[in-house]
Amino acid sequence: MSGRVYLVGAGPGDPELLTLKAVKALKQADVVLCDDLVGEEILAYARPNARIVPVGKRGGCKSTPQEFIERLMVSEALRGRIVVRLKGGDPLIFGRGGEECAALRAAGVAFEVVNGITSGLAAATALGIPLTHRDLCHGAIFVTGHERHSGTTDWAALAKTGLPLVIYMGVARCEDIQGKLMEGGLAGATPAAVVCNATLADQRSIATRLERLAEDVRGSGIGSPAIMVIGEVARLAENTSGNRAAPRPQALHLPR
Ligand code: SAH
Repeated sequence: MSGRVYLVGAGPGDPELLTLKAVKALKQADVVLCDDLVGEEILAYARPNARIVPVGKRGGCKSTPQEFIERLMVSEALRGRIVVRLKGGDPLIFGRGGEECAALRAAGVAFEVVNGITSGLAAATALGIPLTHRDLCHGAIFVTGHERHSGTTDWAALAKTGLPLVIYMGVARCEDIQGKLMEGGLAGATPAAVVCNATLADQRSIATRLERLAEDVRGSGIGSPAIMVIGEVARLAENTSGNRAAPRPQALHLPR
């Protein structure tokens, strides 16, 4: 029997935001290589005898080298195993999913990508922010605050588009991002919202303005993983929780 790899998006955190395809792949997996943003409740969909290999890049542990992850996926699949590579959010949004697809293609391993709900979208929705709105903007920009080669992102050019910016991995550098966007001409009064642990029981969020972004982020103690939404649509943010965890919405009881 030939093995295969499913590159699966685990969504932003709430297990009910998994896709049916993600659950199906997890139920078939012999091996699950999972990122550290993926919670226990999601891993519970794997078979009890599946081998779970944490390959996270955070959490105080030394990061797992990308080549190790790629080699392990390939070798397990070549041994005939069903491998699930479980990644936070969507596998092809800021998650090195593209590199993993290339490695699998180069090794001749059959694979399939299963979309997940990306955290930028989930974080906006968690606050009731529509990322597009025909009266306010005709698109949205998903951008990382943590470039591989710093200085690559032209924040001034992004500021001039007038589109809402959905910034991943940006809280650690929010002073810098705030400064560059304002230098680029984005008004200090532009609404901004920051959501940490979106869709999880400990979700926290703040609503502010660009000119106070860094000050309010630091004051609230909000840290990674967080999404910042900067643009007129952020004015529509509701139910921001400040320092408190947001109440978890009532769970739907779906059969497993
Ligand atoms: N592939 C993922 C992104 C991986 S990069 C996706 O599509 O969502 C990791 C970054 O994603 C974090 O630094 C943070 O900016 C964001 N992130 C992931 N999960 C999050 C969550 N539950 N709440 C807020 N931000 C989250």
